[in-house]
Amino acid sequence: MKSIENIELLEGLLASCRSVILVGHVNPDGDSIGSLMGMKGYLHTLGKEVTAVVPNPYPEFLSFLDPESEVLAYSIVPEQVQERVDAADLIICMDFNSLGRIDALGGVISSSGAKKVLIDHHPQPDTLFDLIYSYPELSSTCELAFWIIKGLLGKGEFPLSSAIALYTGMMTDTNNFANSVLPSTFMMAGELMEIGVDKEWVQKMVFGGYSEDRMRLMGYMLSQNMKILPQYNAAVMVLTKEIKEKFNFTDGDSEGFVNLALNIKSVRISALFTEGDEFIRVSLRSKDDFSVNRLSRGYFNGGGHERAAGGRLFIPVGEVAGYFEKSLAEFIEKEK
Ligand code: 5GP
Ligand code: MN
Repeated sequence: MKSIENIELLEGLLASCRSVILVGHVNPDGDSIGSLMGMKGYLHTLGKEVTAVVPNPYPEFLSFLDPESEVLAYSIVPEQVQERVDAADLIICMDFNSLGRIDALGGVISSSGAKKVLIDHHPQPDTLFDLIYSYPELSSTCELAFWIIKGLLGKGEFPLSSAIALYTGMMTDTNNFANSVLPSTFMMAGELMEIGVDKEWVQKMVFGGYSEDRMRLMGYMLSQNMKILPQYNAAVMVLTKEIKEKFNFTDGDSEGFVNLALNIKSVRISALFTEGDEFIRVSLRSKDDFSVNRLSRGYFNGGGHERAAGGRLFIPVGEVAGYFEKSLAEFIEKEK
């Protein structure tokens, strides 16, 4: 069992609160919704009133973790979110390290007088929280939440709904047990299976629900759009609005695309740029020792992990590939 330091401080905060808000990041992924629903299931057993909120809706394939559609998206129901936050006496932020990662919801959270806790695995967390559980070495926020809940539960029974949610987020954040997996991750997976998680069912829910459009878009991006920059061992894809339209794009359809190019032997840096209404979303991945966290901090208004990072660009979509190449050249030169 992985022991988490200062768990009694969280126990104290939970003992004295009634209404809890759990906050997830923008464009919620499996680790985000998994950690929120995992924690929610546990807090329910303590009799707490719990609301999970996110800045914008999660992709459809994650809806199996939220069967009653209880997660509130600030972009859809801002008044309801504001009301719940106003009534809360504890706020727990999960799977992000700074309020900049939750868009306009950041203002709502920062102006609340409730105690604030961070449970996260990204490096360099903000200091505005009253209590921080930051474990960048762990595979996922779901894994951290698992060890925290285990510590709080003692000999108590682990709720099955939490177990399923936490297994899902760990599985997606490790890219199906490929990255950032430690012995503690396998221990967690084993314990979750013993609690009753049907891993094949989870696998089917996450990876077996692609639409034909998503599959064809993936093929198109790989064969027609991906460019290889051999001088930098890099690959880049640019998903424009025009392409999105052609393939009836819905949220989550490009999930995982950025990992694909890393399967090419010579590629160690992969980038996916996605054109949106207000900015270009940046997604970066690497293998070996290349830090996309530093690349993103320096050139893409973002950050993240060493081998998985993201950010935003505010330039015309036609200039993106050129900007990427230029930034990469400069960054590699500087890091020498
Ligand atoms: P993804 O490529 O899956 O959207 O994001 C990968 C990782 O990059 C996320 O887990 C998160 O840590 C980080 N990330 C993504 N977008 C941003 C951003 O806009 N700002 C920061 N600081 N990190 C980001
Ligand atoms: Mn995560």
